[in-house]
Amino acid sequence: MKKAVFPGSFDPITLGHQDIILRALPLFDEIIIAIGINEAKKYMFTLEERVDFIKETFKNEPKITVTTYIGLTIHYCKEVNADYMLRGLRNPADFEFEKAIAQTNRKLSGIDTLFLLTSAETSYISSSIVRDVLRNGGDFTILVPDSVRVK
Ligand code: ADP
Repeated sequence: MKKAVFPGSFDPITLGHQDIILRALPLFDEIIIAIGINEAKKYMFTLEERVDFIKETFKNEPKITVTTYIGLTIHYCKEVNADYMLRGLRNPADFEFEKAIAQTNRKLSGIDTLFLLTSAETSYISSSIVRDVLRNGGDFTILVPDSVRVK
């Protein structure tokens, strides 16, 4: 069974994340979207909200599960028996950052990272831009799945 973990903060999930996940689906039997908990980081949305947004987005997709984890992503992958990690690439900065992490992860654990290139339509979208638009009263809804709503 081919299993991948897609780790991230998803603060919140965007159309960019959704695009990567949907395009990776045919490659795996299961994709676990795993929200990493970093106590040192400040988030705009609570962990529960972030989980709910993702669950709602993929509620009709049986191959997708949504979880949270603490600690190293490779340890979590081992725990759930996933041989692959999934990540998206938008630009050279993403590449440089992701390259070192992926090579370290592979050296430490044998777990390989599969990268999908962002679609042209979503390449400019990031969670931090969504948060900025939201903070300043702009219409963020065109950047995120319908499930992302502010109370
Ligand atoms: P992290 O805090 O781990 O970077 P994010 O939720 O910001 O978590 O991103 C998770 C993954 O999704 C990363 O691999 C990132 O490059 C990818 N990603 C984010 N936005 C996009 C996008 N618009 N297109 C493609 N990949 C994206």
